[in-house]
Amino acid sequence: MKTFKRIAVLLALLLAAGVAYIAIQSQRRPPLGPHAGLVLPPAPAGTTVTVKFAGVCTLVFDDGETAVMTDGFFSRPGFAKVALSKIAPDERAVDAGLAALKLRKLAAVIPVHGHYDHAMDAPLVARKTGALLLGDESVLNVARGAGLPESAMRKVAPGDTQTFGAWTITFIAGRHAPTPFSDGRGGEHTLQPLKPPARATDWREGQTWSLLVQHRGGRSYLVQGSAGFVEGALRGRRADVVFLGVGALGKQPAGYRAQLWREVVDAVGARRVVLVHWDDFTLGLDQPLQPMPALADDFEATMAELITIAAAGRQDLRLPPLFTPFDPGP
Ligand SMILES: [Zn+2]
Repeated sequence: MKTFKRIAVLLALLLAAGVAYIAIQSQRRPPLGPHAGLVLPPAPAGTTVTVKFAGVCTLVFDDGETAVMTDGFFSRPGFAKVALSKIAPDERAVDAGLAALKLRKLAAVIPVHGHYDHAMDAPLVARKTGALLLGDESVLNVARGAGLPESAMRKVAPGDTQTFGAWTITFIAGRHAPTPFSDGRGGEHTLQPLKPPARATDWREGQTWSLLVQHRGGRSYLVQGSAGFVEGALRGRRADVVFLGVGALGKQPAGYRAQLWREVVDAVGARRVVLVHWDDFTLGLDQPLQPMPALADDFEATMAELITIAAAGRQDLRLPPLFTPFDPGP
């Protein structure tokens, strides 16, 4: 009996230590300060094409006539809520995000894949802006569960192109980075309309896209929302700028970051790379963005290696400012 008691106490202590470890690591975030020099300046007056960033992989491409958005994620529920209970879009956060982006009108909203940090708020964004929501069946099931009418959504498949004003979007089949939310092979789909509130893991990955965003007669941009790749998938495509998602990239094995760079940045011949999906999305947009915590990522490892790779390839590595329109360049 004594031994049994001792084992029980030991297990309880181990469990408490485990919980404490997770709690501490989820709050330990590297400072962004050392990389402040990489943040792009506000667009000079008269810039025709601008991009705005609202955290994770929410980007607005705007030529003054037509605006298109990736993701449209603003709710950013806290860590405890995501880990322990159910989540749902936060309408106030969505309204505040759209106001901060000063969006007059939006033609399209396109989640880069079906996970909650990309797709959860998109139906609400579509309803509030009149944008058409584009996605695969998983993303459309998120829209259906949120009550968006079929007329406000359009199903897309790998290889499709869609045109909005002077913008053409090409949907290229991509791959998610291996993370606790994804095996990096893309076998998880939302098969039924998903009605929130639901567990964070109920927003399944679906198809992960590499989105080629081209402006008529102008530059091309590649949005690689997740730090995964399909070998050879981008060969022959051209983009001036890559918006590269680096979430959990710091936790990948040696050699992975260099391979990702070759398969994505070098493959399209980009001269500039703007890093996205580096911020801790369990913190609200009413405070300055902070890198992902040590529990989920190793931001410093990512930065150290990517700065070296970009310098060797003479590519311009940048971070986007929050909400402020910038000239995507280069
Ligand atoms: Zn994801």
